[in-house]
Amino acid sequence: MVHTDPVARARELREALDLYNYQYYVLDAPTVPDAEYDFLFRELQELEAAHPSLRTPESPTQRVGSSPREGFQEIRHRVPMLSLNNGFSEEDVLNFDRRVREILDCEVVDYACEPKFDGLAVSLLYRNGRLVEGSTRGDGEAGEDVTANLRTIRAIPLQLPMSSPPSVLEVRGEVLMEKRDFQALNQGQLARGEKLFVNPRNAAAGALRQLDPALTAQRPLSFFAYGMGEVEGWGLPATQGELMDRLSQLRFPVPVERALVRGAAGLLGYFERMSLMRASLRYDIDGVVYKVNAFGQQQALGFVSRAPRFALAHKFPAEEALSEVLDIDVQVGRTGALTPVARLRPVFVGGVTVTNATLHNEDEIRRKDIRIGDQVWVRRAGDVIPEVVAVVPEQRPPHARTFVMPEHCPVCGSKVVRTEGEAISRCSGGLYCPAQRKQALLHFAQRRAMDIDGLGEKLVDQLVDSGLVRTPPDLYGLSLQALASLPRMGEKSAANLLEAIERSRETTLARFIFALGIRNVGETTARDLARHFGDLAPLLSAGLETLQQVPEVGPVVAQSINDFLGEAHNREVVQRLLSCGIRWAAAPSRLQEKQLLAGLTLVLTGTLPHLSRDQARARIEGAGGKVAGSVSRRTAYVVAGADPGSKLQQALELGVPVLDESQLLSLLNQDIS
Ligand code: NAD
Repeated sequence: MVHTDPVARARELREALDLYNYQYYVLDAPTVPDAEYDFLFRELQELEAAHPSLRTPESPTQRVGSSPREGFQEIRHRVPMLSLNNGFSEEDVLNFDRRVREILDCEVVDYACEPKFDGLAVSLLYRNGRLVEGSTRGDGEAGEDVTANLRTIRAIPLQLPMSSPPSVLEVRGEVLMEKRDFQALNQGQLARGEKLFVNPRNAAAGALRQLDPALTAQRPLSFFAYGMGEVEGWGLPATQGELMDRLSQLRFPVPVERALVRGAAGLLGYFERMSLMRASLRYDIDGVVYKVNAFGQQQALGFVSRAPRFALAHKFPAEEALSEVLDIDVQVGRTGALTPVARLRPVFVGGVTVTNATLHNEDEIRRKDIRIGDQVWVRRAGDVIPEVVAVVPEQRPPHARTFVMPEHCPVCGSKVVRTEGEAISRCSGGLYCPAQRKQALLHFAQRRAMDIDGLGEKLVDQLVDSGLVRTPPDLYGLSLQALASLPRMGEKSAANLLEAIERSRETTLARFIFALGIRNVGETTARDLARHFGDLAPLLSAGLETLQQVPEVGPVVAQSINDFLGEAHNREVVQRLLSCGIRWAAAPSRLQEKQLLAGLTLVLTGTLPHLSRDQARARIEGAGGKVAGSVSRRTAYVVAGADPGSKLQQALELGVPVLDESQLLSLLNQDIS
């Protein structure tokens, strides 16, 4: 229940924000998203503005961060480390610029714009050019002594590259973890079964605030400079822009994305540009920071309690949010892969409302221990698809349910299989499953399979979407009339397609096996299977054991074939294909045939009168021979047709016997049919 009494509501908000501050700043483990924190913070600010008597010095609106963590030495800041006022809308930006102009009494203001790094603020103290002390922001007045930890960060200079360095130079900036390093860190945590970090900021804060610097050194942290504290013996720069250039000369990393702009329009333009760049940056930013550029003007503007008047943090929409897993569905992809998808309580994150997130596979769910009913952190960065980062185990309800991968495909009911060593579960009804229809047809029709010229992606879409074709045998029942009725399909193209389908009935066993789209059975394996079994019937009746005896077929492939053939839906489609009149020249199986060409290598050149290149190859390979691409002394025969290439010349030069098609066939003891 939300209190309507302002006193009670203010107390409630203060208590909540104090707790969130503790979890965020001290434990590096927030339990609410930043957007929610910001929302409550603003409510308290507005309440205090309407009722000034409610504003106490202890209020979170008057304070920065949190006190240093126990175990660390405290370092008092000689120049306080403040927070920034936040803006969330164009209106907030226009108000900021208007107030600045009013106070400065000027028409237009120049601003320095910078990315707002999502890390944690630190102060680096250089005495006579040497890094002597480093601290966190803490509560703004005093922070934690993390000198030894900061020394492990390579981007931070230990010594300033100056011949006569200033006696004191305090550089302020942000320690952060790059996105890539964060991903790798979480992968490692996941593999070791350790706690996941919700975002790079928490990971960076956790890594820096270690009591043992050796632990910090193991974490890949980066640093960017954006300000200064106490300075002695250094000619002060006149503007923020100049400060950044000078810090860069001193080899401090500064963001190349910084810019100088004029007026509110300039600020909004920068915000727009950085919004577009956000996803492609190596590090996370949660907004941009606008600073009045001239230090003279900054001084004139001064500070209010916890933040300067001369700067504004313009925040981006949050990329993380908390949601609830309402259910876990399973989607079947075009290739039969089953992907579990979390149905989420709708949540606004990364600028859009997210209602579901992929969970990738069964193992991922188990590793993250995501259960139906859990509260989860959802992240959507840039255009990347939303992701469930981690669960909040403390909030697991007693009725939370574990996910179980279904045993049958939710789309077609075929058996679901998961090959050992693979993370993905798949529907085994490849030829039949509606989810895989288009993919199966495209595969079936491709040049290296049934070679149905003209049956490409667009046409497959049309055929399937119009309901004319469901499985490959339907292709052989298409009529000219039905085809010509499709949009953008003329009679001529319809007739051409029918002719191509007609032609495809005459094929080879290897092409047919390949066309079935059995997982792990590519062209070569299909050829091996065709050669081994000689015809389809023995392959169809081969069990796992028989398949494993095929020399070229390993256990994974044998299992895939067995899964495919074990699915009644697939067998039914194969039978229908056979009854459509698809045929191939029977070849003696390798087990029975006389290996007439065993051990011999042949080379093909030119166009043969009857056999296509692939048919000739199939015949030669069927007899145990090999077909090579070039002629050498080891070539047994060159088979030449019309318009032979240079291979014929080479054969003659090397004295390799040359055969024509009929000589080849008689060598094989075969004829054309
Ligand atoms: P802030 O993060 O909004 O802004 C101030 C900080 O911005 C500085 O201390 C500095 O570290 C950083 N910064 C990054 N780039 C900068 C740049 N170019 N120039 C200057 N400073 C730059 O303020 P804050 O006081 O650190 O934290 C408040 C914010 O933290 C809240 O708005 C909220 O989003 C989040 N927070 C969340 C929780 C939670 O429970 N989720 C709790 C506390 C705070």
